Amino acid sequence: MEKYIMATHNRHKVTELQRILAPLGIEVATADLPEVEETGATFEENAELKARSACQATGLPSVADDSGIVVDALGGAPGVYSARYAGPDATDEDRNRKLLEELRGVPEEKRTARFVSAVSCAFPNGEILTVTGVCEGRVAFLPRGTDGFGYDPVFLVGKKTYAELTPSEKDAVSHRGKALRELAARLQERQAGKETR
Ligand code: IMP
Repeated sequence: MEKYIMATHNRHKVTELQRILAPLGIEVATADLPEVEETGATFEENAELKARSACQATGLPSVADDSGIVVDALGGAPGVYSARYAGPDATDEDRNRKLLEELRGVPEEKRTARFVSAVSCAFPNGEILTVTGVCEGRVAFLPRGTDGFGYDPVFLVGKKTYAELTPSEKDAVSHRGKALRELAARLQERQAGKETR
């Protein structure tokens, strides 16, 4: 089996990638990687930048996730700027507070939002596979729940926030769960194609 490098410095993403991919037979390992400037205009472009950079640095196939929350009432913000939404030194709490503040007075039916995860796998021969997963939901009025990370306490899927779901419940519906299951299927197809050649 090919070994994959995980191109991320976010320990929560590391946990989720390993948790979702291990049962699908895909092993991913962290490496000490150079920081990449996320200059892309889309989640897909940023995922590709990070995956290619890790692949170049290690010489191994590398997987990267670029993700964020897209809020309709804010014209799609914070989107690809989700990590930087409240400035460079802000905490998850600061970003959640800012998001709720921006949506103050916006009624429930207009608080629609989606989480998006683009995941790329770059190979040393220059090949790249990119998939996208989306989870539709709403922004809550107040943070709720203690599991997860980032915007989890303010993102409602049905009646519960991501932070109120167990890890396996989150993975079953999440943007990242969907993207990674699709990636696993595509990697298997690629492997099967190589074996019949
Ligand atoms: P990036 O993909 O590293 O650019 O950052 C993504 C931003 O979206 C960070 O602020 C994360 O905390 C947030 N984010 C990404 N995925 C999730 C998730 O599953 N739950 C909550 N926040 C997330």
